[in-house]
Amino acid sequence: VAEILTDWTETYKEYGALWQMQDVREPHAATTTSNEHVSAYFLSENITARPSLVVEIVNTALLPHAGSEELVPDWVFTYAPYGLFVASACANTLGAQQGYVKPADNYTTTYDVQPGDEVLVVSDDLYSGGSLKKTIGSMQQMGAVVLPYVFTLANLSGDSHLDGRKILAGAHIPVERYPGDDCAMCDGGSEPLAPRPNWERLQSHEIPGSSE
Ligand SMILES: [Zn+2]
Repeated sequence: VAEILTDWTETYKEYGALWQMQDVREPHAATTTSNEHVSAYFLSENITARPSLVVEIVNTALLPHAGSEELVPDWVFTYAPYGLFVASACANTLGAQQGYVKPADNYTTTYDVQPGDEVLVVSDDLYSGGSLKKTIGSMQQMGAVVLPYVFTLANLSGDSHLDGRKILAGAHIPVERYPGDDCAMCDGGSEPLAPRPNWERLQSHEIPGSSE
């Protein structure tokens, strides 16, 4: 039986949540959290603002791949802030509890996770995976059993796995990624822009110096 894969890339573009570089001369995105320069960016709040859409994505991209009923986790965990809406949709759909870690507090949580509890870790998006890894580490420190897959709305890591865990995603977005201080796109003359304050400019795909 062929696996039916649902890809939400076009929907993400329709809602203005996904920018993808179309020309090497247009600006590219400089992420602030991991200091990486990337050729695609996902503005997750344009999707997480729509809870019924998030539930639809979870139903098509997580549920068919999340294994059988006995694999229902005790918890769905994420990190603040935007992941909360994804965790909520997942927990509601799976019938699990939900919780989150605070990046500002060294990825700790006040939720009552017990040793042996099974935890699914999710996020709104995934670039380097640093925050997801820290969330997983935090759960493991509490003695929880982290499931062998993670879920995210948009996987922009270019990888199929994160530390051996399969990445389930609403969309797997191909992306060029470079360290901020050694970027081939910068070297090629493309301007790096912080994506959130420059979202409209990025979405315009305007090439500097060319009129019309
Ligand atoms: Zn760059």
